[in-house]
Amino acid sequence: MIYFDNNATTPLDERVLEAMMPFLKTMYGNPSSVHRFGRIAKSAIETAREQVAALVDAPPAQIIFTSGGTEANNLALHRYAHATIAVGATEHPSVLEAAKRARAHHCIPVNAQGIIDDEALAALIALRPDMASIMLANNETGAIQPIAHIAECLTPHGICVHSDAVQALGKIPVSFAQLGVQLLSISSHKIYGPKGCGALIFDKSTPPQSSMLGGGQEQDFRSGTENVAAIVGFGKAAELAKNALAQRHEATLALKQQLVLALEKMPHITLFSCHTQQLPNTVLFGLDGIDGEWVLLKLDQLGIAVSSGSACASGEAAPSHVLLAMGISPDVAQTALRVSVSHHNTLTEILKFVEIIHSLGK
Ligand code: PLP
Repeated sequence: MIYFDNNATTPLDERVLEAMMPFLKTMYGNPSSVHRFGRIAKSAIETAREQVAALVDAPPAQIIFTSGGTEANNLALHRYAHATIAVGATEHPSVLEAAKRARAHHCIPVNAQGIIDDEALAALIALRPDMASIMLANNETGAIQPIAHIAECLTPHGICVHSDAVQALGKIPVSFAQLGVQLLSISSHKIYGPKGCGALIFDKSTPPQSSMLGGGQEQDFRSGTENVAAIVGFGKAAELAKNALAQRHEATLALKQQLVLALEKMPHITLFSCHTQQLPNTVLFGLDGIDGEWVLLKLDQLGIAVSSGSACASGEAAPSHVLLAMGISPDVAQTALRVSVSHHNTLTEILKFVEIIHSLGK
Protein backbone atom coordinates (compact mmCIF):
# COMPACT_ATOMS: atom_id res chain seq x y z
CA MET A 1 0.00 0.00 0.00
CA ILE A 2 1.05 3.56 -0.69
CA TYR A 3 -0.56 6.01 1.69
CA PHE A 4 -0.95 9.51 0.21
CA ASP A 5 -3.89 10.67 2.37
CA ASN A 6 -2.13 12.28 5.31
CA ASN A 7 -4.45 15.30 5.39
CA ALA A 8 -7.30 12.90 6.18
CA THR A 9 -5.32 11.33 8.99
CA THR A 10 -1.80 10.22 9.82
CA PRO A 11 -0.57 6.89 11.18
CA LEU A 12 0.03 6.78 14.92
CA ASP A 13 3.72 7.26 15.70
CA GLU A 14 5.17 4.23 17.49
CA ARG A 15 6.61 6.50 20.22
CA VAL A 16 3.18 8.05 20.75
CA LEU A 17 1.63 4.62 21.22
CA GLU A 18 4.35 3.75 23.71
CA ALA A 19 3.65 6.91 25.71
CA MET A 20 -0.08 6.15 25.73
CA MET A 21 0.05 2.47 26.71
CA PRO A 22 0.56 2.88 30.50
CA PHE A 23 -2.55 5.09 30.63
CA LEU A 24 -4.61 2.39 28.92
CA LYS A 25 -3.28 -0.30 31.26
CA THR A 26 -2.05 0.38 34.80
CA MET A 27 -2.41 4.16 35.17
CA TYR A 28 -6.15 4.26 34.76
CA GLY A 29 -6.95 6.83 37.44
CA ASN A 30 -9.52 9.57 36.97
CA PRO A 31 -7.60 12.88 36.85
CA SER A 32 -10.24 14.42 39.17
CA SER A 33 -9.57 11.85 41.91
CA VAL A 34 -7.42 13.05 44.79
CA HIS A 35 -5.64 9.73 45.41
CA ARG A 36 -2.38 8.70 43.81
CA PHE A 37 -3.99 7.10 40.72
CA GLY A 38 -5.80 10.36 40.04
CA ARG A 39 -2.75 12.52 40.69
CA ILE A 40 -0.66 10.52 38.19
CA ALA A 41 -3.29 10.97 35.49
CA LYS A 42 -3.67 14.68 36.29
CA SER A 43 0.07 15.22 36.14
CA ALA A 44 0.27 13.41 32.76
CA ILE A 45 -2.39 15.75 31.36
CA GLU A 46 -0.47 18.79 32.56
CA THR A 47 2.72 17.50 30.94
CA ALA A 48 0.81 17.03 27.67
CA ARG A 49 -0.58 20.56 27.99
CA GLU A 50 2.97 21.89 28.23
CA GLN A 51 4.07 19.83 25.20
CA VAL A 52 1.16 21.12 23.09
CA ALA A 53 1.73 24.67 24.38
CA ALA A 54 5.37 24.50 23.28
CA LEU A 55 4.37 23.45 19.75
CA VAL A 56 1.92 26.33 19.32
CA ASP A 57 3.84 28.95 21.30
CA ALA A 58 1.05 29.62 23.82
CA PRO A 59 0.78 29.55 27.62
CA PRO A 60 -0.30 26.06 28.83
CA ALA A 61 -3.12 27.58 30.91
CA GLN A 62 -4.74 28.83 27.71
CA ILE A 63 -5.12 25.37 26.19
CA ILE A 64 -8.37 23.42 26.50
CA PHE A 65 -8.32 19.77 25.47
CA THR A 66 -11.28 18.66 23.37
CA SER A 67 -12.38 15.56 21.48
CA GLY A 68 -10.77 16.88 18.28
CA GLY A 69 -10.69 19.70 15.77
CA THR A 70 -14.43 19.55 15.19
CA GLU A 71 -15.22 20.14 18.86
CA ALA A 72 -12.55 22.84 19.13
CA ASN A 73 -14.15 24.70 16.20
CA ASN A 74 -17.64 24.30 17.65
CA LEU A 75 -16.43 25.52 21.06
CA ALA A 76 -14.74 28.54 19.50
CA LEU A 77 -17.86 29.63 17.65
CA HIS A 78 -20.23 28.84 20.53
CA ARG A 79 -19.15 32.03 22.34
CA TYR A 80 -20.66 34.04 19.50
CA ALA A 81 -23.85 32.03 19.02
CA HIS A 82 -25.90 35.08 20.03
CA ALA A 83 -23.92 37.39 17.78
CA THR A 84 -22.77 37.75 14.17
CA ILE A 85 -20.14 35.40 12.76
CA ALA A 86 -18.35 35.65 9.41
CA VAL A 87 -16.64 32.53 8.05
CA GLY A 88 -14.37 31.91 5.10
CA ALA A 89 -16.11 30.26 2.14
CA THR A 90 -13.61 27.38 2.13
CA GLU A 91 -13.82 26.49 5.85
CA HIS A 92 -14.17 22.95 7.14
CA PRO A 93 -17.81 21.86 7.66
CA SER A 94 -17.32 21.99 11.44
CA VAL A 95 -16.96 25.77 11.12
CA LEU A 96 -19.52 26.29 8.35
CA GLU A 97 -22.22 24.32 10.19
CA ALA A 98 -21.47 25.83 13.61
CA ALA A 99 -21.73 29.34 12.11
CA LYS A 100 -25.26 28.60 10.92
CA ARG A 101 -26.35 28.45 14.58
CA ALA A 102 -25.30 32.08 15.16
CA ARG A 103 -27.86 34.86 15.28
CA ALA A 104 -26.51 35.97 11.90
CA HIS A 105 -23.71 34.68 9.71
CA HIS A 106 -21.85 35.84 6.64
CA CYS A 107 -19.64 34.08 4.12
CA ILE A 108 -16.28 35.68 3.28
CA PRO A 109 -15.43 35.12 -0.41
CA VAL A 110 -12.04 33.81 -1.56
CA ASN A 111 -10.13 34.55 -4.76
CA ALA A 112 -9.26 32.01 -7.48
CA GLN A 113 -6.38 30.68 -5.35
CA GLY A 114 -8.63 30.21 -2.30
CA ILE A 115 -7.28 33.24 -0.45
CA ILE A 116 -9.17 35.98 1.37
CA ASP A 117 -7.64 39.10 -0.16
CA ASP A 118 -7.59 42.74 1.00
CA GLU A 119 -10.72 43.57 -0.96
CA ALA A 120 -12.64 40.82 0.82
CA LEU A 121 -11.16 41.97 4.12
CA ALA A 122 -12.35 45.54 3.56
CA ALA A 123 -15.85 44.29 2.77
CA LEU A 124 -15.72 42.11 5.89
CA ILE A 125 -14.74 45.03 8.12
CA ALA A 126 -17.67 47.02 6.71
CA LEU A 127 -20.01 44.20 7.80
CA ARG A 128 -18.75 44.54 11.40
CA PRO A 129 -19.26 40.95 12.53
CA ASP A 130 -18.45 40.08 16.16
CA MET A 131 -16.28 37.18 15.07
CA ALA A 132 -14.46 35.99 11.95
CA SER A 133 -13.37 32.38 11.55
CA ILE A 134 -10.70 31.85 8.88
CA MET A 135 -8.60 28.72 8.57
CA LEU A 136 -4.81 28.84 8.53
CA ALA A 137 -4.44 26.14 5.86
CA ASN A 138 -7.09 24.49 3.74
CA ASN A 139 -7.48 20.73 4.01
CA GLU A 140 -8.23 20.23 0.30
CA THR A 141 -6.02 22.73 -1.53
CA GLY A 142 -3.34 23.27 1.12
CA ALA A 143 -3.67 27.04 0.51
CA ILE A 144 -2.30 29.07 3.43
CA GLN A 145 -4.25 32.17 4.45
CA PRO A 146 -2.27 35.24 5.63
CA ILE A 147 -3.77 34.95 9.12
CA ALA A 148 -1.34 37.26 10.94
CA HIS A 149 -2.17 40.01 8.41
CA ILE A 150 -5.90 39.26 8.61
CA ALA A 151 -5.85 39.40 12.44
CA GLU A 152 -3.91 42.66 12.32
CA CYS A 153 -6.60 44.17 10.08
CA LEU A 154 -9.62 42.83 11.98
CA THR A 155 -8.76 43.09 15.69
CA PRO A 156 -8.55 46.92 15.79
CA HIS A 157 -12.20 46.86 14.68
CA GLY A 158 -13.15 44.74 17.67
CA ILE A 159 -13.64 41.61 15.55
CA CYS A 160 -12.59 38.43 17.36
CA VAL A 161 -10.50 36.20 15.07
CA HIS A 162 -10.64 32.43 15.26
CA SER A 163 -8.42 30.28 13.09
CA ASP A 164 -8.71 26.57 12.37
CA ALA A 165 -5.07 25.47 12.35
CA VAL A 166 -5.85 21.73 12.19
CA GLN A 167 -4.12 21.20 8.82
CA ALA A 168 -1.28 23.64 9.39
CA LEU A 169 -0.12 22.11 12.66
CA GLY A 170 3.01 20.01 12.33
CA LYS A 171 3.47 21.03 8.67
CA ILE A 172 4.38 24.70 9.03
CA PRO A 173 5.28 26.74 12.15
CA VAL A 174 2.13 27.68 14.08
CA SER A 175 2.64 30.37 16.73
CA PHE A 176 -0.45 31.50 18.61
CA ALA A 177 1.51 34.54 19.81
CA GLN A 178 2.64 35.58 16.33
CA LEU A 179 -0.64 34.91 14.54
CA GLY A 180 -2.36 37.42 16.82
CA VAL A 181 -5.68 35.55 16.80
CA GLN A 182 -7.93 35.19 19.84
CA LEU A 183 -8.88 31.54 19.28
CA LEU A 184 -7.06 28.67 17.54
CA SER A 185 -8.15 25.07 16.89
CA ILE A 186 -5.84 22.07 16.52
CA SER A 187 -6.20 18.29 16.28
CA SER A 188 -4.01 15.36 17.32
CA HIS A 189 -4.58 12.84 14.53
CA LYS A 190 -3.15 15.09 11.82
CA ILE A 191 0.26 15.05 13.57
CA TYR A 192 0.71 11.29 14.15
CA GLY A 193 -1.23 11.38 17.42
CA PRO A 194 -4.41 9.49 18.31
CA LYS A 195 -7.83 10.29 16.87
CA GLY A 196 -10.51 11.85 19.08
CA CYS A 197 -8.30 14.48 20.70
CA GLY A 198 -7.67 18.14 19.95
CA ALA A 199 -7.47 21.50 21.63
CA LEU A 200 -8.75 25.05 21.55
CA ILE A 201 -6.26 27.76 22.43
CA PHE A 202 -7.74 31.01 23.71
CA ASP A 203 -6.59 34.50 24.49
CA LYS A 204 -7.38 35.60 28.06
CA SER A 205 -9.49 38.43 26.62
CA THR A 206 -11.70 35.88 24.85
CA PRO A 207 -12.42 32.88 27.09
CA PRO A 208 -14.74 30.45 25.29
CA GLN A 209 -18.23 29.74 26.51
CA SER A 210 -18.53 26.11 27.54
CA SER A 211 -21.03 24.07 25.61
CA MET A 212 -20.38 20.86 27.54
CA LEU A 213 -21.66 21.33 31.10
CA GLY A 214 -20.96 19.07 34.04
CA GLY A 215 -18.03 18.39 36.36
CA GLY A 216 -16.05 21.50 35.49
CA GLN A 217 -12.97 19.85 33.98
CA GLU A 218 -10.60 21.87 31.77
CA GLN A 219 -11.10 25.05 33.85
CA ASP A 220 -14.85 24.58 33.47
CA PHE A 221 -14.58 25.20 29.71
CA ARG A 222 -15.11 21.55 28.76
CA SER A 223 -16.71 19.22 31.27
CA GLY A 224 -16.27 15.46 31.05
CA THR A 225 -13.66 13.02 32.31
CA GLU A 226 -10.57 13.61 30.22
CA ASN A 227 -9.40 11.05 27.63
CA VAL A 228 -6.09 10.72 29.47
CA ALA A 229 -4.33 8.28 27.12
CA ALA A 230 -5.28 10.30 24.03
CA ILE A 231 -4.20 13.57 25.65
CA VAL A 232 -0.87 11.99 26.64
CA GLY A 233 -0.51 10.78 23.04
CA PHE A 234 -1.32 14.24 21.68
CA GLY A 235 1.33 15.72 23.97
CA LYS A 236 3.95 13.25 22.79
CA ALA A 237 3.00 13.80 19.14
CA ALA A 238 3.32 17.56 19.69
CA GLU A 239 6.76 17.16 21.23
CA LEU A 240 7.90 15.02 18.29
CA ALA A 241 6.39 17.45 15.77
CA LYS A 242 8.18 20.40 17.34
CA ASN A 243 11.54 18.64 17.22
CA ALA A 244 11.09 17.34 13.66
CA LEU A 245 9.19 20.27 12.08
CA ALA A 246 12.02 21.45 9.82
CA GLN A 247 12.97 17.92 8.79
CA ARG A 248 9.36 16.92 8.01
CA HIS A 249 8.84 20.16 6.08
CA GLU A 250 11.91 19.56 3.97
CA ALA A 251 11.14 15.88 3.33
CA THR A 252 7.53 16.43 2.28
CA LEU A 253 8.34 19.50 0.19
CA ALA A 254 10.99 17.58 -1.76
CA LEU A 255 8.42 14.87 -2.61
CA LYS A 256 5.76 17.42 -3.48
CA GLN A 257 8.13 19.30 -5.78
CA GLN A 258 8.94 16.09 -7.67
CA LEU A 259 5.25 15.32 -8.04
CA VAL A 260 4.34 18.82 -9.22
CA LEU A 261 7.23 18.86 -11.67
CA ALA A 262 6.04 15.58 -13.21
CA LEU A 263 2.38 16.65 -13.30
CA GLU A 264 3.24 19.97 -14.95
CA LYS A 265 4.83 18.05 -17.83
CA MET A 266 1.64 16.11 -18.50
CA PRO A 267 -1.03 17.47 -20.83
CA HIS A 268 -4.60 17.93 -19.62
CA ILE A 269 -3.71 18.50 -15.97
CA THR A 270 -5.15 21.26 -13.78
CA LEU A 271 -3.31 22.16 -10.58
CA PHE A 272 -5.36 23.99 -7.94
CA SER A 273 -4.12 26.79 -5.61
CA CYS A 274 -0.64 26.42 -7.12
CA HIS A 275 -0.09 30.18 -7.40
CA THR A 276 -0.26 30.88 -3.70
CA GLN A 277 1.49 29.73 -0.54
CA GLN A 278 0.60 26.10 0.04
CA LEU A 279 1.29 23.42 2.63
CA PRO A 280 4.53 21.58 1.85
CA ASN A 281 2.77 18.21 1.62
CA THR A 282 -0.42 18.91 -0.38
CA VAL A 283 -1.11 18.75 -4.11
CA LEU A 284 -4.65 19.08 -5.49
CA PHE A 285 -4.99 18.42 -9.20
CA GLY A 286 -7.37 17.08 -11.80
CA LEU A 287 -7.09 15.10 -15.01
CA ASP A 288 -9.19 17.05 -17.49
CA GLY A 289 -12.54 15.37 -18.14
CA ILE A 290 -11.88 12.43 -15.78
CA ASP A 291 -13.90 12.09 -12.58
CA GLY A 292 -11.67 12.32 -9.49
CA GLU A 293 -13.72 9.72 -7.64
CA TRP A 294 -13.17 7.27 -10.54
CA VAL A 295 -9.41 7.85 -10.43
CA LEU A 296 -9.45 7.42 -6.65
CA LEU A 297 -11.12 4.00 -6.97
CA LYS A 298 -8.70 2.94 -9.73
CA LEU A 299 -5.77 3.94 -7.54
CA ASP A 300 -7.29 2.11 -4.58
CA GLN A 301 -7.40 -1.08 -6.65
CA LEU A 302 -3.68 -0.57 -7.28
CA GLY A 303 -2.98 -0.08 -3.57
CA ILE A 304 -2.64 3.70 -3.54
CA ALA A 305 -4.70 5.77 -1.10
CA VAL A 306 -5.55 9.35 -2.08
CA SER A 307 -8.60 11.54 -1.60
CA SER A 308 -10.89 13.13 -4.14
CA GLY A 309 -11.12 16.29 -2.03
CA SER A 310 -11.95 16.51 1.63
CA ALA A 311 -12.03 13.15 3.41
CA CYS A 312 -14.84 14.44 5.56
CA ALA A 313 -16.89 14.92 2.40
CA SER A 314 -16.12 11.55 0.83
CA GLY A 315 -19.19 9.61 -0.15
CA GLU A 316 -20.76 12.84 -1.32
CA ALA A 317 -21.19 13.08 -5.07
CA ALA A 318 -21.31 16.89 -4.96
CA PRO A 319 -18.23 18.78 -6.14
CA SER A 320 -16.06 20.32 -3.42
CA HIS A 321 -17.47 23.52 -1.90
CA VAL A 322 -13.88 24.73 -1.62
CA LEU A 323 -13.25 24.62 -5.37
CA LEU A 324 -16.67 26.05 -6.18
CA ALA A 325 -15.92 28.98 -3.83
CA MET A 326 -12.71 29.57 -5.82
CA GLY A 327 -14.80 30.00 -8.97
CA ILE A 328 -13.88 26.60 -10.43
CA SER A 329 -16.68 25.14 -12.56
CA PRO A 330 -18.49 22.07 -11.13
CA ASP A 331 -17.19 19.94 -14.04
CA VAL A 332 -13.56 20.80 -13.34
CA ALA A 333 -14.06 20.57 -9.55
CA GLN A 334 -15.36 17.03 -10.05
CA THR A 335 -11.92 15.98 -11.40
CA ALA A 336 -10.04 16.96 -8.22
CA LEU A 337 -7.72 14.49 -6.62
CA ARG A 338 -5.76 15.26 -3.44
CA VAL A 339 -2.34 13.83 -2.71
CA SER A 340 -1.11 14.60 0.81
CA VAL A 341 2.28 13.10 1.57
CA SER A 342 4.14 12.54 4.82
CA HIS A 343 7.81 12.16 5.70
CA HIS A 344 7.23 8.38 5.58
CA ASN A 345 6.65 8.49 1.81
CA THR A 346 9.45 7.95 -0.70
CA LEU A 347 10.47 9.19 -4.13
CA THR A 348 9.90 5.67 -5.49
CA GLU A 349 6.26 5.91 -4.39
CA ILE A 350 5.90 9.29 -6.08
CA LEU A 351 7.38 7.96 -9.32
CA LYS A 352 5.06 4.95 -9.29
CA PHE A 353 2.09 7.26 -8.75
CA VAL A 354 3.19 9.55 -11.60
CA GLU A 355 3.49 6.58 -13.95
CA ILE A 356 -0.06 5.45 -13.15
CA ILE A 357 -1.52 8.95 -13.50
CA HIS A 358 0.29 9.32 -16.79
CA SER A 359 -1.28 6.12 -18.13
CA LEU A 360 -4.76 7.04 -16.84
CA GLY A 361 -4.56 10.45 -18.47
CA LYS A 362 -3.81 9.03 -21.93
N1 PLP B 1 -10.59 21.37 10.41
C1 PLP B 1 -9.92 20.95 9.33
C2 PLP B 1 -9.29 21.95 8.42
C3 PLP B 1 -9.81 19.58 9.07
O1 PLP B 1 -9.14 19.17 7.98
C4 PLP B 1 -10.42 18.67 9.95
C5 PLP B 1 -10.38 17.22 9.67
O2 PLP B 1 -10.19 16.76 8.57
C6 PLP B 1 -11.10 19.16 11.07
C7 PLP B 1 -11.17 20.53 11.26
C8 PLP B 1 -11.76 18.25 12.05
O3 PLP B 1 -10.82 17.71 12.94
P1 PLP B 1 -11.17 16.34 13.71
O4 PLP B 1 -11.11 15.25 12.71
O5 PLP B 1 -10.10 16.24 14.76
O6 PLP B 1 -12.52 16.53 14.31
